[in-house]
Amino acid sequence: MPVVIVENDTSQWEDQTGAVYHFPKRYSTWLVEGTEVIYYKGRIKDKGYASLRLSADPHYFGKARIGEIHADRNSTKGDLFALIENFTPFEEAVPSKIDGLYLETVPATRVKNYWRDGVRPISQADYDAILSHAKLMPPQTGQQKPKSEDDPLTFESANEGSKSSYFGTRYERRKDLRMQAIAIHGLDCKACGFDFEQAYGEHAKGFIHVHHEVPISNFGGEKAVNPATDLVTLCANCHAMVHRKKDITLSVEELKGMLRVRWVFES
Ligand SMILES: [Zn+2]
Ligand SMILES: [Zn+2]
Repeated sequence: MPVVIVENDTSQWEDQTGAVYHFPKRYSTWLVEGTEVIYYKGRIKDKGYASLRLSADPHYFGKARIGEIHADRNSTKGDLFALIENFTPFEEAVPSKIDGLYLETVPATRVKNYWRDGVRPISQADYDAILSHAKLMPPQTGQQKPKSEDDPLTFESANEGSKSSYFGTRYERRKDLRMQAIAIHGLDCKACGFDFEQAYGEHAKGFIHVHHEVPISNFGGEKAVNPATDLVTLCANCHAMVHRKKDITLSVEELKGMLRVRWVFES
């Protein structure tokens, strides 16, 4: 059954359009691998987001497919992450209502609270109706540019007089891959176990570096990045250490072999 997924301009959920959808356990019946989804946004609340939306009114703005589902390791309530595949943005907003009629069939028993649901299973007919009004753009595969200022991955290594960033590949800076890597691997360091939020509290929530492990055989070659196998989450120290020598990048296993301290946090 196709599903409408809501993505608000701001929310407690760590969504990344076209890459990751973060949701509570109660929606896991609907959001399973292979489900076709349509993205929806409710009416604008903060005008500051106007330029990031296709419309200020409630509307649909893209379609995609649900990929792998991963548990949110930081959630005590069983929240989940879905990886998003094949995100295809709409060229223009498809309004929720056309000629006075909603494109989604609202069950008679749900008139009052239907639109509150963040995940809404819909009929194939409704799915087709929404898409019949949509002009599709080419599917998006990670064209999202890294944010320069506030992206923790773009700060530079000031040590040893090196001005260049030691966070080597562009994959480490790509927001969509970064969010997928965190959804899969969690927010703790895969070499030493360090967890920023556990160490520094709320201020550090969500902070971790994402490292791209380049297999020797693929070095210099272009291939699609698999966030499950090619990316790993590392703390800032371990990340700096794997990139410390210019000519060689340590594998996470090699680094673990050198480690003398492992952080163990109580959770
Ligand atoms: Zn570490
Ligand atoms: Zn790296």
